[in-house]
Order: sequence, then C-alpha cells, then structure tokens
Amino acid sequence: MAAIVGLAISLVLFVLHTATLRYIGLLWPVKVPLFEYPSEFHQETVNGLIERINETRITEQLQFLAGTFPHREFNSDAGESFAVEIESLLEETGVPVDIHQHAWRQPSLIAKIPGQQQSKVVVGCHLDAVNLVPFLSSPGVDDDLSGVVTLLEAIRILRQNPLELRQSLEFHFYAAEEPGMRGSLDVLASYTDIVAFLQQDMTGFSAGAPPHFGVVEDYASEPLTEYVKRLIETYCTIPHRSTRCGQICSDHSAALLHGFPAVYVLESELAASNPYIHTEHDTLEHIDVGHVAQHVRLVLAFAVETALMETVEPRGEQAVRFRWTDIVILSATSDTLRFVMACIILSCAIANLVLVLRSGGHRNLFKLHQN
Ligand SMILES: [Zn+2]
Repeated sequence: MAAIVGLAISLVLFVLHTATLRYIGLLWPVKVPLFEYPSEFHQETVNGLIERINETRITEQLQFLAGTFPHREFNSDAGESFAVEIESLLEETGVPVDIHQHAWRQPSLIAKIPGQQQSKVVVGCHLDAVNLVPFLSSPGVDDDLSGVVTLLEAIRILRQNPLELRQSLEFHFYAAEEPGMRGSLDVLASYTDIVAFLQQDMTGFSAGAPPHFGVVEDYASEPLTEYVKRLIETYCTIPHRSTRCGQICSDHSAALLHGFPAVYVLESELAASNPYIHTEHDTLEHIDVGHVAQHVRLVLAFAVETALMETVEPRGEQAVRFRWTDIVILSATSDTLRFVMACIILSCAIANLVLVLRSGGHRNLFKLHQN
C-alpha cells in the first residue's frame, strides 16, 4: 500500500515539475512563417562588395584574436574580455552596438545597420569557446572565432559601402552557445520581426573533403534553405552539400524555437567538419582563410539581397519539430535545479513502480478499480 501511495505522489510531483520546465512546449511543433525570398539578385551591387573582401585583413584579425584570447569560456574573465575587445572592434567600424548582459560574465553583442523598415535580417555567430576536458585551453579558433571574424569582415565592408536597405540588418555575437545556446535563447526572446536568420558557426576548416559549404537541412526553414543555396551558386566559387545535425546544434535553433525562419551554413557537411573543435587543438594551423572568405561572400550576399527584399508578408507556416532529446538538453541547461528534481522524482516513481509490481500490488490496484 505504501509503495502505491509513493508511486502516486511521485507521479504527481513529476508531472508538476516537468510541466513548469521552460521548453516543455517543444513537445509540440513550432510554427515558423514562410516568406518568399528573392529570385532575382542585385549582382552588380553584391559583386562590388565581394571584391572588397581582404584575406590579409582576415588573417591578421584571426592571428591577433587567437593570440590574445586563447580561452573564451562564457563565464570567465577571458570570455568577458573577449566580448569587450569585439565590441571595440565593432565600434571602430562605426556600427552602433547594443550590449546584452546575461546572468553570466560574457555579454552578447548586437551590431545594427538600420534599414527603412522594422523587419530584421540577422546573421549570428558565437563568442564563447569550450574544451570538453576541464582545465585544458579552449582556443576555439574554428569554433567559433572563424564565424566572429567572418561577420567582422562583412560588417566592415558594408559600413564602408553604405546602401539604402529596406529591412534592418543585425549581426549577433552570442555569448554562451556551447552550454546550450543560452545567449541566443536569451537575446532572441525579446524579438518579434525577424524575416531571415543565418548562422555562421565554424567557417574555416576545409581539409575534410574538397572545399564546399554544408547547408544544414534539418532544423531549418525550407524556403530559406533553398534561397541560401541559390545565393551560394550565384556568389561563391565552391559548391554546397546538404547535411544534418540530428539535434539542436547552434544558435539558429534558438531562432527557430522562437518562431523565426532560420538556416545554418557551416564549413562543410558535418562528417567532414573540423575534428579538433572543443579541444586544445582547435587552432590557427587548421584554418583555411580562403574558406573563411567564401563565408564572407555568402554573408554579404545574404545580408544585402535579403535586406533589399520588396515584400515581407508571410505566405504560410512551416511546423518545425524538435526532438525529446532537445527538450532534455534545453531543460537541463536552462532550468537545471528543476530538471534534476524531476529526474530524482522520476527515479522514485520507477523504484515505487518496481516495488508495486514485485509485491503483486498491481493486482490489488486492479481490484480497487474493479470495485
Ligand atoms: Zn560553435
């Protein structure tokens, strides 16, 4: 009898604890608006910008930042100092920067190039780095200093060659992507009108296969994915291949989760991507600056063509499904204490259930129901 009461109490507590987890709503699909992206491009304008990509400047920027910031863990002095350095580099370009403070040391940064309308085109990357072995260095040059430098180069070129944009452009440098997209989840929670989001996380490794882009096709807005492929075919000199993450894998997932169309393009298909990430070997020697420059081409094309888009009325919705494992990851990182409590209570429920079954209590339970 005690085991049955224990089981009932455990189940009630488990339901109460899980129901209050922040991301439990992802058991149901998220509705993401579908937009019609341009099919005719402003090739003269965009190619004029692409000509200004400077590989020497990209190399020097990578060398300086990798040398000065060999660690960038999100809740550390080094992680915070790195964000301060990126903020001053952004201000040097003349672009206004918003600083988004979080519950940890490293802030997120939002660089803005305003257009005529409120609707926004966003390109993202992340500031933090991690080594999966505690106390070892986390240089994170590919993951994701390469993305940071990709965005910096594109912003510099856009600022030096101003255009009349319709949509507003934003470049997001997120803190704390590695511990579960915490920075982007936080920042994007206050947004309402993003029409397209492109993530740039790992843009510099090309040794795993003949150089190509990897376009992530699960966890993506379908029309945006097709549009990005057309941009690559028009403006880049390497091909694209489809790839899949199989789970939430970078900040574009946070954009989708908040109901914004998003896509993630990385250095290659996942199987051929940098094998040194999250170790002390994610260093400059594995970076191909020419490959980073291909990503700058894509970012310039995406930013300009999408910001010049005429109409931004959605023409339907796409249901994006998340997996239960995503909910576990997000809940464990965002509501840690409640998640641990739910796990303990679930263990109690299972233990009680075993006791009930062993004692034959389920027959008594059945009889009770019959009465
Ligand atoms: Zn990353």
